[in-house]
Amino acid sequence: MNSKEIIDLTEQNCFHVYNRFNVVFDHGDGVTLYDVEGKAYLDFASGIGVNAFGYNNKKFNDTITRQLGKLYHISNLYYHPMLAEASKKLCEVSKMDKAFFTNSGAEAVEGAIKTAKKYAYNKNNRSGYGIVAMDSSFHGRTVGALSVTGTEAYRTPFLPLMDKVDFATFNDLGSVKDAVDDDTCAIIVEPVQGEGGVTPANKEFLEGVRALCDKKDILLIFDEIQCGMGRTGSMYACHGYGVKPDILLTAKALGGGLPIGAFLVTDKVAKSSLTPGDHGTTYGGNPLCTAAVKASIEIMTADGLLENVNSLTPYLESKLDEVVKDCKCAKSHRGKGFMQGIVLDESVKAGDVVKACLEKGLVVLSAGGNVLRLLPPLVISKADIDKAIAIIKEVLAVEQ
Ligand SMILES: *Cc1c(COP(=O)(O)O)cnc(C)c1O
Repeated sequence: MNSKEIIDLTEQNCFHVYNRFNVVFDHGDGVTLYDVEGKAYLDFASGIGVNAFGYNNKKFNDTITRQLGKLYHISNLYYHPMLAEASKKLCEVSKMDKAFFTNSGAEAVEGAIKTAKKYAYNKNNRSGYGIVAMDSSFHGRTVGALSVTGTEAYRTPFLPLMDKVDFATFNDLGSVKDAVDDDTCAIIVEPVQGEGGVTPANKEFLEGVRALCDKKDILLIFDEIQCGMGRTGSMYACHGYGVKPDILLTAKALGGGLPIGAFLVTDKVAKSSLTPGDHGTTYGGNPLCTAAVKASIEIMTADGLLENVNSLTPYLESKLDEVVKDCKCAKSHRGKGFMQGIVLDESVKAGDVVKACLEKGLVVLSAGGNVLRLLPPLVISKADIDKAIAIIKEVLAVEQ
């Protein structure tokens, strides 16, 4: 089938819930994707922050293939070696105490909400607790996760959502203090907002929220589903900020492309929240996906991915300075590590820029607030940055 036939067949049979770009990807190698016609694309999107070490990684493929031949599903009624190994590694690199594996990011958010509610229930012997979340946040599309997502367009058709969610202004500690009341059991924050527009939190803001949670004995949930797993230059962004959450959410790059997420808790939370019977999942933490977690963490550590992010970030940022200087429609840039956004003015639409870049062989993303979002694999080189920036400049020069 050629790409037109594939697109037509897909649209005939798939519920049209995504506006997909007009491209059919066939395979990938390193940081390059190939469409079915054989055209090459430089990947600066990583499948929305998932393919952290690019495509066709031999170590990863070997681990997965070996596990496929042994066991790929067994119920959570039983133990298996990969669950033991992956949870040990994940607790180590996240600096958290206990892990619960899920199948997606949204499912990790759901688990965190239940954990926080149960913690408050145990402590005060009553139910009725709610969550404080941030404006412009994104936590996923399931009903619980959508309830704490601060973007009206995603929410309005589905109201009423979960009760007792109050929104505060990101990076405004006073507004968080105002939103917290006696019914608050947790505050959920992305240390770097992704979908909302690639906006890093201020260190003082996260420290202030931490202190507030300590004072009130409520739980701090960091959603690092997008900014975690090395993307900002530390294993989790909260390590860079020096602020520890009570519950840490991870997914996207966690399985290197296989679908797995997790919520991680401290011992304090584990000891007085969910107990057997409170929560569960059929596939979560299966042997195949936990093998992927183990391989991802090993590759990240052994292949020096964090070092690559940290050594190339100043260069990437200097090239983004150039874009802002040279292109009239680029107002500013912001981000952390390999999670960067170029803020565009009203003369161009980020979505049109993404489309034009794709036609020129560069895969990039947009984000809220008319932002062009870059989430390259953590293995890119200086030459890849040069190539991507050249295409972005070319496109922005034409678009403006
Ligand atoms: C993508 C994302 C989610 C949702 O993850 P899914 O796997 O799509 O359910 C939640 N939070 C953040 C910050 C994300 O970027």
